[in-house]
Amino acid sequence: MKVAVIGGGPVGLVTALYLEKQGYSVDLYEKGKWPRDKTCGQGLMPSGIKILKKLGINFKTDLESRPFNGISYHDGPLSLMGSLPKKGFGIERKILSQKIIDKIREKSNINLYPNTTITETSNNYDMFRIKVDGEHRNYDYAFACDGLNSTLRKTHHNRLVRKGPWRMGAREHFLQAPWSDKVEVYWSEKVEAYVTPVSNTKVEIAFLWFEEALPCGDSLRDTLWKSFPELKEKIHFNKSQGDFRGYGPFSTRSKDIKVGRLFFLGDAYCFLDGITGEGLSLGFKGAQIVANNFSKWNWFSELRFKLHYWHYSFMVTLALTLSHHTRLRRFFFKMFKKVPRGFDFLLSLNDL
Ligand SMILES: Cc1cc2nc3c(=O)[nH]c(=O)nc-3n(C[C@H](O)[C@H](O)[C@H](O)COP(=O)(O)OP(=O)(O)OC[C@H]3O[C@@H](n4cnc5c(N)ncnc54)[C@H](O)[C@@H]3O)c2cc1C
Repeated sequence: MKVAVIGGGPVGLVTALYLEKQGYSVDLYEKGKWPRDKTCGQGLMPSGIKILKKLGINFKTDLESRPFNGISYHDGPLSLMGSLPKKGFGIERKILSQKIIDKIREKSNINLYPNTTITETSNNYDMFRIKVDGEHRNYDYAFACDGLNSTLRKTHHNRLVRKGPWRMGAREHFLQAPWSDKVEVYWSEKVEAYVTPVSNTKVEIAFLWFEEALPCGDSLRDTLWKSFPELKEKIHFNKSQGDFRGYGPFSTRSKDIKVGRLFFLGDAYCFLDGITGEGLSLGFKGAQIVANNFSKWNWFSELRFKLHYWHYSFMVTLALTLSHHTRLRRFFFKMFKKVPRGFDFLLSLNDL
C-alpha cells in the first residue's frame, strides 16, 4: 500500500514514522526545507517526550533542550506553582524538526520531497491523487498535516470557522541562562507571556492574546512587552535573537477527521490554542491512532481519536475562561494556593 503525507512539520514527520513502522511506503511532501521553524511555546509535555523516545528520538539536555518540572503562574501580586508528574522538555522548533528528520533519513521506505507545495489533489473512490510538477501520483490514502491554515482543508471543503473570540500568538528568543526549572506563565489583561527554557543558554518568550485586545501593527512587539513589567526586568534585551514573529488568528479547524481517503492530523485537524502547551503531544497521539488504524477506520478508532480532542477542548476552554476573566482567575489562584496537591492533579490531567 502506498501513502502520502502532506506537510513536514513535527506531526507530519511523526505520522510518516508511524506509517513506516506499519510497513507502508511513504511519500512525504513539504513546501519548505528542513529543519522547519514555527511560532510555538516550545514546551513538549511528558506524553510527547515518551512518544518520541519510543520512536528512537532523544534529546541531549544541554544545548539541545532543557527539562522543566512544572508550571508557575504569575498574575500581579499573586503566584501559583504546580509540579508535573514527569519532566517536560523545552526544545527549539528547529532542533525538534532536525532530530525527527534525522531519524526519518535512516528509513529507506520514506521518500522525502522538500520544497514541494501541494495544492492540486483529488479524492477518488479507490485512490487519492496528487499533482506534483505536472505529473499525477496515485496513493491508497493520504494524510493532511499541513498546519493551521491547511490548504487541503479548504480544497476538500472541510473547513469550520470557530465560534468565540479568536486568539493570536508571537514569540522571541533570548540568549540568556534560564532562571527557573519551570515554564513560567505571566498574566496581564487578556494577554499571557510564557517563558520556556529551551537550553542551558537560551529562553523563549511566547505571547498569546485575544485578537480584539491588541492591534496588530508595527508596534505589536512593544505593546506586548509593555504588558509585562515584572518579566521585562528579567530579560536581557540586548541578547534578543531578533526573531520576534507573530502567528494567527486561530480561527478555523476541520469539520471531520476523514474526507474520503484523506485524513486530517495535527493543526490541520484542530488547533484551538497554545495555552495548555499540548499541541505537539496531542498531534503525535492522533498520528499514532490514525497510522495504526486508517485502513480499517471505524467508529471506535474515531472515538479514541476524538476523546483526546474533547479533553483538549475542555482544558483549553477552562484556561481561556480564566485568561478572559481576571477576578475569576485570581479567585482560582487563591483557592488552589490552599490545596497545592489539587493544582498538581489538575496539571497532570492536562497531559493524560
Ligand atoms: C504561540 C503558540 C504557542 C504554542 N505553544 C505550544 C507549546 O508550548 N507546546 C506544544 O506542544 N504546542 C504548542 N503550540 C502548538 C504547536 O506549535 C502546534 O500544535 C504544532 O506546530 C502542530 O504541528 P503540525 O505539524 O500539525 O503543524 P506545523 O508545525 O504548522 O507544520 C505544518 C507543515 O506543513 C507545511 N505545509 C503547509 N502547507 C503545505 C502544502 N500545501 N504542501 C506541503 N507542505 C505544506 C508547512 O511548511 C509546515 O512545515 C503553540 C502554538 C502557538 C501558535
